[in-house]
Amino acid sequence: MTFKDLGLSDAILKAVEEKGYTKPSPIQEKAIPHILNGKDLLASAQTGTGKTAGFTLPVLNYLVATKHPKYRPLRALVLTPTRELAAQVYDNVREYSKYVNIKSAVIFGGVNAKPQIATLKRGVDILVATPGRLLDLHDQKAVSFKRVDVLILDEADRMLDMGFVRDINKIMSFMPVKRQNLMFSATFSKDIKQLAAGILRNPVEVETAPQNSTAKKVTHNVYQVDKGKKTEFTIKLIKDNNWKQVLIFTRTKHGANKLTKKLIQAGISSAAIHGNKSQGARTKALQNFKDNTIKILVATDIAARGLDIPLLPNVINFELPNVPEDYVHRIGRTGRAGAAGEAISLVCSEETEYQNEIEKLLKQKIKSTVVEGFEPTDTAPPKRAATSKKSFGKKKGGGNSGNKSAGTSASQKRKPHFKGNKPKPATGRGRSGAPKKRR
Ligand code: ADP
Ligand code: MG
Repeated sequence: MTFKDLGLSDAILKAVEEKGYTKPSPIQEKAIPHILNGKDLLASAQTGTGKTAGFTLPVLNYLVATKHPKYRPLRALVLTPTRELAAQVYDNVREYSKYVNIKSAVIFGGVNAKPQIATLKRGVDILVATPGRLLDLHDQKAVSFKRVDVLILDEADRMLDMGFVRDINKIMSFMPVKRQNLMFSATFSKDIKQLAAGILRNPVEVETAPQNSTAKKVTHNVYQVDKGKKTEFTIKLIKDNNWKQVLIFTRTKHGANKLTKKLIQAGISSAAIHGNKSQGARTKALQNFKDNTIKILVATDIAARGLDIPLLPNVINFELPNVPEDYVHRIGRTGRAGAAGEAISLVCSEETEYQNEIEKLLKQKIKSTVVEGFEPTDTAPPKRAATSKKSFGKKKGGGNSGNKSAGTSASQKRKPHFKGNKPKPATGRGRSGAPKKRR
C-alpha cells in the first residue's frame, strides 16, 4: 500500500514524499480511506504512529477539492489539548500543505492574541487550536465556526483528562450540525467512547494497537531507590551511560524545577517543561532538546503529552505517575517509529502501589532491580512522611562514581546500565519484606 493508492492528490503526495515517508503507517492506511469517504471516525493508535498525517492528509485533500474560488471561510478545525501539541500539529499541516493553496494557522493561549486575530482576519482554511484561547477569540468575533465542516479532536483522551469537554461542546454549538467529525486518541477508554457517542455520527472505529498496549520494542525497568536518593541515582544513570538525550518525567512542576536545577549543578545540561513556564521558555526548551543543545528535558505529564520528540532511546520516570495510563503515554516517547527504546522507572516504597497498577494495565511484570549503594531503606511510610531522611547522608559506598553497582539481569539483551556486574535482582517491592501498603 502506498500513499498514492490511498487516493491522495499529487500535490499532497509530493509534500509527503519530501517528508521522507515511503509508505503509510498502519493507522494512516486504516483511517485515511474512511476520512476521504466523508465518514465520522474514532481512531486509536499508540503515540508516535503518525496519527497527525492520518487526519491532516485526507482533510487537506478534501479542502483542496472543495475550495471556494473566492472565499476562504474556516472549514476545518483541529482541537488539541496543549499549546505544544497545537504548535506541532500546525507545523505538520504547514509541511503537508506546502504545494496546495490552503491557508492554515495556529491559536493557543499564553501568547499575544493580536497577531492571531490578524491572521484569522486574513482568512484561514484550516485552524489548529487549543479550546480556551479559541473560545476567547470567538467571543471577540475574531473567528466564526459557521462554515466548519470538519472537526478534528486530537489527543481526545487528554482533552477529557484536562476537562475540555465543556469547551468542546460550546465550540461545537457554533458549528453547522452537518459536518464530519474525527476523533484521535492514544487510548480507548469507556469515557472516550462516551465522549465519542456525543460527537460522532455513525462513526467508523479503527484501532491499530491493542488497548493501552505499549510499543513492543520498549523494555521496562524499575530501579528501587529511596525517594531521597533519586536525584543522585539519576545523575549516576546519565553519567555512567553517557546518555545524550533523555526525557525525564516528574509528577509535579516543582519536582521538575528541582531536578533540573540539580542536574545542571551536576554539569548535565537540562531544561524543564511544564505548565508554569512561559510559552517562549517551553518552546525554547523543546527546541534545544530536539537539536541536542541540552541533554535532558524534565517534563510533567501534561507538558510532554503528544510532543513529537523523535527516536528517544531513553525515558526515565523519576516518579511513577499515579494514573497508570500516563505511564503508557510517557513511554510512548521512547521506541518510536520502530526503534528500540527503554523506559526506566525509579520507584520508592511509596510508589509500590502505582507500580502494581501499571503492571496490571500492561499485563506484564516489570523487572525490578536494586543497585549497590542505592539499596532502599525506606519502608512504606504513612502518607505525610514524604521527606527524605537525614541518615541517607551517610554513604554506604557507590555514589556518583561508584562502579560496584548492579546491572540488569543477564537474560536481557541490553547492556547493563552500570559498569559493575553484580546483578542484584530485587526480591520484592520496596525493601524486601517491606509492607505493601496501599496509599
Ligand atoms: P502520533 O500523533 O500518532 O503520536 P505523530 O503524528 O506525531 O504521531 O507522528 C510521529 C512521527 O512519525 C513524526 O515524526 C512523523 O513525522 C512520523 N511519521 C508520520 N507518518 C509517517 C510515515 N508514513 N512514515 C514515516 N514516518 C512517519
Ligand atoms: Mg498525535
